[in-house]
Amino acid sequence: MVVLDPEEAADRLLRDLRSTSEGLSTREAERRLLQYGPNTLRHQRVRRWPVDLARQFTHPLALLLWLAAGLLLVVGSSVVATAVVLIIVLNAAFSFVQELQAERAVEELAKFLPQRATVERDGMMTEVDATQLVPGDIMLIREGDRIAADVRLLDGAVGVDMSALTGESVPVVRSAAMADANVPLLSAHELVFSGSSCTSGEARGVAFATGMATEIGRIAALSERVKADQSPLEHQVRRVAWLIAAVSVMLALSFIPVATLAAHLTLINSLVFAAGLLAGMVPEGLLPVITLALAVAVRQLAGRGALVKRLSAVETLGSTDVICTDKTGTLTENRMVPVAAWVPGRRVELDDRAFAASAATTSTAVRSLAGAAASCNNASLHDGGDPTGDPTEIAILMAAQALGADPNHRWRDAQRRCQFHFDPQLKLMSTVDQVPDQSSVVHTKGAPEAVLSRCSRVLDTGGHPATLSAAGRGEVEAAVNAFAAEGLRVLAFASRELTVNEPQPQRRTEAERDLCFTGLIALLDPPRAGVTDSVAQCRTAGIRIIMITGDHPLTARAIAQRVGITGEHPTVVTGDQFERLSEAQLAALIQDNPEVIFARASPEAKLHIAEALRDGGHVVAMTGDGVNDAPALRCANIGVAMGKSGTDVAREAATMVLVDDNFSTIVTAVHAGRRIYDNVRKFIVFIFAHATPETVPFLVFAIGGGLIPLPITIMQLLAFDVGSETLPALSLSREPAEPGIMARPPRPHKEGVIRAPMLARAWLFLGAIVAALQMGGFFYVLVKAGWHPGAPVNGDAPLHHAYQQATTMAFLGMMAGQVGTAFAVRTQRASLRSVGVFTNRYLLAAIAAEIALAALFVYAPPMQSLLGTVPLPASDLLLLPAYPVIVWGADEILRYLLRKWAP
Ligand code: ATP
Repeated sequence: MVVLDPEEAADRLLRDLRSTSEGLSTREAERRLLQYGPNTLRHQRVRRWPVDLARQFTHPLALLLWLAAGLLLVVGSSVVATAVVLIIVLNAAFSFVQELQAERAVEELAKFLPQRATVERDGMMTEVDATQLVPGDIMLIREGDRIAADVRLLDGAVGVDMSALTGESVPVVRSAAMADANVPLLSAHELVFSGSSCTSGEARGVAFATGMATEIGRIAALSERVKADQSPLEHQVRRVAWLIAAVSVMLALSFIPVATLAAHLTLINSLVFAAGLLAGMVPEGLLPVITLALAVAVRQLAGRGALVKRLSAVETLGSTDVICTDKTGTLTENRMVPVAAWVPGRRVELDDRAFAASAATTSTAVRSLAGAAASCNNASLHDGGDPTGDPTEIAILMAAQALGADPNHRWRDAQRRCQFHFDPQLKLMSTVDQVPDQSSVVHTKGAPEAVLSRCSRVLDTGGHPATLSAAGRGEVEAAVNAFAAEGLRVLAFASRELTVNEPQPQRRTEAERDLCFTGLIALLDPPRAGVTDSVAQCRTAGIRIIMITGDHPLTARAIAQRVGITGEHPTVVTGDQFERLSEAQLAALIQDNPEVIFARASPEAKLHIAEALRDGGHVVAMTGDGVNDAPALRCANIGVAMGKSGTDVAREAATMVLVDDNFSTIVTAVHAGRRIYDNVRKFIVFIFAHATPETVPFLVFAIGGGLIPLPITIMQLLAFDVGSETLPALSLSREPAEPGIMARPPRPHKEGVIRAPMLARAWLFLGAIVAALQMGGFFYVLVKAGWHPGAPVNGDAPLHHAYQQATTMAFLGMMAGQVGTAFAVRTQRASLRSVGVFTNRYLLAAIAAEIALAALFVYAPPMQSLLGTVPLPASDLLLLPAYPVIVWGADEILRYLLRKWAP
């Protein structure tokens, strides 16, 4: 096999790669794919199992539990110690699995958005999945592309961001014309590498390495691990968990003197109780449940077309209060149809093809416009096949065809001498073409004011160049405004024939000057179906929408009005006006004008707007698709990139990628974010509600001062902790949205996830009712058997069996009460009926599992001896089904009253 030197002369390299500048045949590419394998990096699993697993056993809450277990062991209570260790192990395993799940959910997103590459196969440019690239493929690299193989450039020049390889994020220039030999590969000027991205320019090159043979494949730390950033949510919950742990420690510690002095328990026994109480109260299950809830949300969102790259973004989505959206493709379909053309003095309707064709034959001006539109274009119309290229350019090419020009791209490419790419900042694109019977001609198209400002002449009605007077400009502007007011997208065209001795322009300023205005083409890009509804939803949900578009102010305004973003009189700020604004003025403008549109906006404007909004305390979602949008996407709280039309660079900078480019998907994601946040609050209330029934028995015992036996054994408490918490909490994360979720304002960004009313509801209401029922059951069974305060219930006392029954009743009462709590917390304010009693199948399954577990705890002989449970008579058992109904019913009444008093 030939040893490749990618720095050798291009023709030699092509020969060594057995390729040509026309690329490979599909057949050969398939063969090579078998030989070299798919172009993927084998992710070396850097997950270090033992370390990651060990972390689950050593986080602070687990350490606290270890302490309790150690204490129990020292005082000789090995059974309880084992139970506590079991809790630690179960929890660690659960957390570990959750983390894996969460990582996988984010990793899986890659499947939804395969990376594409443009290659020449069988002499034709085609898009292939980047995994199909093979050495020898001729690739086209354009601005915004993520480069998918190591490539030697053959022609053209590109700016590349090589930070993935070198850590240096300032783009470097790589050009076919700057061949280096004998320099380190990464510094060679004619080579670009997989993993870097193209920030400007366009070039063709030959792939010389793919997959693991690429430079990035060689770099050891190639596996990008999912960013495991701690979300604010997790951060807050961690803090509260600590607070509760601290309170538990204090409670447990204060229990010891009370139990020994007042209730005359031995010191050892009170230590055991204290440690058990501590283990029961530490909310160790909360964090993994939150992680899982977020991971589930990421999966669900992916199924609906929104790929969220960080778990924490789900939470941010829920508090989003401003969406900055562009227009083309997001609010509109980006399927443009040419509607009309205009040359001075004449409007030509393009939907009437016969009329358009006759206009072309009779008018030199129309023919020139058609020629410019066909030349200054990179789209292709294929007979019988779908057109390829940018939708604006496809529509323009269709217009050119309707006006009589030849849309054949081969002919166009053959006559093209050079090209100045579309620059979103300038809003212009130009080509220099060798037109038959003329010397070279500059063809320029772009935003009308950008083109017009570079025109000194105009093709008059007779098709002859004439000086462009102020009146002539006025006439063009009036035509543009008339189109734009109809919501049409307008592009202007101009040209300049180079004089015989004039050299071919090297810079765009040399080309785009002194132009002769040719005409306008107006395109219709209708709003997407469903966008109006989504906009209306945003309104009721208190989310402000700001349109930031590169398009004309009147077009922007017409579309904004049509989809309901603004009313009749929005404030429209154009690019020029924007540039004159100071930071303070921009902040005031955004603050004071609820309906503001930024038109002819540059990517930098997006960045400034995002900054101003963030400084104003808003949570901003911002869309973008170009390379230059990346800073704004990073600055926004939620950067939203387009899956279809966006560049790879924008997709990398974004937090969320819309598979279908649709605005409505952002609203769906916000809805999901709100729902998940609500659900997290629901299971926090559920888990916290455990605390009261877990502590009250000990309080009763302590206050009883030896007259009342302990209403629940420590092992029962731990069994309750294991058996009743995790599954229902998990299933609550699947709760459907409460009605009216998009009819309330966004959650204030600074508002904590745990609020005082939630704690009151958990501890003082739901938990208190469960505790009352539990204690009621305990005393009922005991008193029924003839117990009176102070009567002995220990091992050989006649009341011992009744005492065991009573603790079993208390234990089952807690479990039953928690079922009621689970149903109660399903809604925060609404009635359960409004979401449907049986709509959460997961919860029903979790409750069934909990009942089965309770039966096991009470009826399986090994469990009986471990927990001290005994079977209950049917008359006692029959009381239990009422417990959940009472808990849930009381909460239902409370919610009803709250809705009535504080609507
Ligand atoms: P949005 O920002 O909402 O997506 P947009 O597509 O109009 O709107 P840009 O892509 O930045 O934004 O385009 C800005 C302007 O540049 C367009 O309104 C149009 O006048 C002009 N333009 C767009 N595409 C081309 C092109 N291929 N060649 C020349 N000019 C173009």
